[in-house]
Amino acid sequence: MADSTTNLTRSIRKEAARLGFSAIGFSSPLPQPLAIKRYNTMIAEKRHAGMSYMEQRVDERAMPSMLLPGIKTIISAAISYHHPLHNHSEQPNISKYALIDDYHTVVRKKLEELLESIKTLIGDNIKSTITVDSAPVLEKTWAEHAGIGKTGKNTLLIVPAAGSYIFLGEILIDKEIIDNKPPLPNLCGSCNKCLEICPTGALIEPGKLDASKCISYLTVELKRDFTTDEAEMIGNHLFGCDHCQEVCPHNKQASITANDSFAVRNNLQNITTETILNLTKSTFRKLFYGTPIFRVGLKRIKRNAKAVEINLKKQIQ
Ligand code: SF4
Ligand code: SF4
Repeated sequence: MADSTTNLTRSIRKEAARLGFSAIGFSSPLPQPLAIKRYNTMIAEKRHAGMSYMEQRVDERAMPSMLLPGIKTIISAAISYHHPLHNHSEQPNISKYALIDDYHTVVRKKLEELLESIKTLIGDNIKSTITVDSAPVLEKTWAEHAGIGKTGKNTLLIVPAAGSYIFLGEILIDKEIIDNKPPLPNLCGSCNKCLEICPTGALIEPGKLDASKCISYLTVELKRDFTTDEAEMIGNHLFGCDHCQEVCPHNKQASITANDSFAVRNNLQNITTETILNLTKSTFRKLFYGTPIFRVGLKRIKRNAKAVEINLKKQIQ
């Protein structure tokens, strides 16, 4: 007969599935010395490039109790945005996650709804906090501990049946929920497809990314103008890059695909560099409001479009 904890996790899972989450798991906020060591090595080797915010609040990453005093459980939830779109090297490309509504808003809303259901199940008097890239949390580590996924050689979390086109969010609560789901084994095996396809050599070894060479970093995070090399490196990528996910067998075979909340905005799919370069503040708003591109602003997308236009012209010469 199922005990009350099993019934509780089962009910939470059921509600998460109703909300469209592909996977959900529970972990205890135990110290994670290995993950913190890896994180500090990445910072020491400057593989985070210009993302100086990553150097801050490392203590909170190590100790989730600093985010929620009395924390007992981290609930990790993953949701798919996997659309069957492909990058055509002769056309400007926008990464899958930027062709849809901004996940920060969508995932947070769903987690708020899930939290309400959890409160109904275990009582209103719990302390809790929700994070969707909004607090310093070792989210892949917790997702691994919760048994919902495993980080691949491309440094992204792979969720069985859903692949790596997923967004992660967490609910931290001060109530213990024991699940005992074992962590997953390595899911990459002898595959090296992501390392082989990366056009810039940003994956310097399995599981190690040098952000300064990564097209996603260059087109999304980098705030200054490009150097000549960087402008060439971005190729046809207007915003983000999916090469190391497109080739991944876990994405090719994924049976779980995009949640309905992440419908592709068709007017962005075949956008031209000319359209972007002619945007004004108000037409930019009209076109991109509510997407991740709106968050980075018109200046950066125009910088990217200018470089892509030159790169595509060179391709046909
Ligand atoms: S996002 Fe693109 S550039 Fe970055 S590691 Fe993956 S394939 Fe390489
Ligand atoms: S492409 Fe292969 S090596 Fe890379 S993450 Fe996917 S399974 Fe792992």
